Amino acid sequence: MMNIDRYVRVSSLYEASDILRKDKAACILGGCGYLRLGRKKISTAIDLSLLSLSYITETPTTIEIGAMTPLRDIETSSLIERTYGSALRKSTEGIVGVQLRNVVTLGGTVAGRYPFSDILPVLMALETNIHFAESGKISLEKYMTEKAIRDVVEKISIPKNGQKAGFASMRHSETDYAILNAAVGIKNGDYKIFVGARPQKAVRAPEAEDVLNSGRSFEDTGRAAAAELIFGDNTRGSADYRKAICKAIVQRAGEEAINAV
Ligand SMILES: Cc1cc2nc3c(=O)[nH]c(=O)nc-3n(C[C@H](O)[C@H](O)[C@H](O)COP(=O)(O)OP(=O)(O)OC[C@H]3O[C@@H](n4cnc5c(N)ncnc54)[C@H](O)[C@@H]3O)c2cc1C
Repeated sequence: MMNIDRYVRVSSLYEASDILRKDKAACILGGCGYLRLGRKKISTAIDLSLLSLSYITETPTTIEIGAMTPLRDIETSSLIERTYGSALRKSTEGIVGVQLRNVVTLGGTVAGRYPFSDILPVLMALETNIHFAESGKISLEKYMTEKAIRDVVEKISIPKNGQKAGFASMRHSETDYAILNAAVGIKNGDYKIFVGARPQKAVRAPEAEDVLNSGRSFEDTGRAAAAELIFGDNTRGSADYRKAICKAIVQRAGEEAINAV
């Protein structure tokens, strides 16, 4: 269980960033789904709930999702489904149960960069940007490969440029963590492929993308992804098992993406 010395419900993003900057053991609270499973000692717990950061809105060029938005709102958003297809819904609807998804947040998911995450590969396939309070805008794909930024996630933005995505995963049971997952994005006939829960964090599969973008089948594409990516062992599955199912998971995600167009 986490241990909190001081609790502050901030009234501005600036106040939250200021506390984070000055207090090395301060911590932002999202929905606390993951935080409360650990034994973190938190000097100052920063609650963003007064900042109206739970929203899904549309601008002329993007859809923006606030950091405190629960995953359930993303799962059930008709705006998101209409704009990008069903991948974001499909990547969230398998996470434990509705009660948890009503509580865990987009901000905690993005800041946590969890390797098992189902939603992160889809967001990367959809060219998502993260907006930090002080550090500004950075592409999620780039952020996943860099050192974590100690800053407040304010929102994400997803371009509205005609892109769609497909998602597929393999799990022992419906609500377990994925053994492997994949997201395929398609924009103007060009594909992007991300594979996650390897069990390492989601990465892009550029050779598989070349195969698909040269007009070959989803089956060949899945085979190329299995050949180029590195897989590991954990209690859910071995590296060999992950490699063996990668072809089918990438193939299914690709077919889902095409169906969304
Ligand atoms: C039992 C359980 C099972 C799960 N299974 C799955 C699964 O199968 N697939 C899947 O994709 N996900 C799964 N998740 C993860 C879940 O979807 C969330 O990604 C996770 O709980 C983090 O969201 P949170 O709001 O709970 O974050 P918290 O636990 O509150 O925070 C997580 C981290 O993010 C930081 N943080 C939170 N908000 C911000 C912010 N705005 N700015 C900066 N830093 C911030 C916190 O300081 C902390 O370090 C599971 C979670 C739980 C608890």
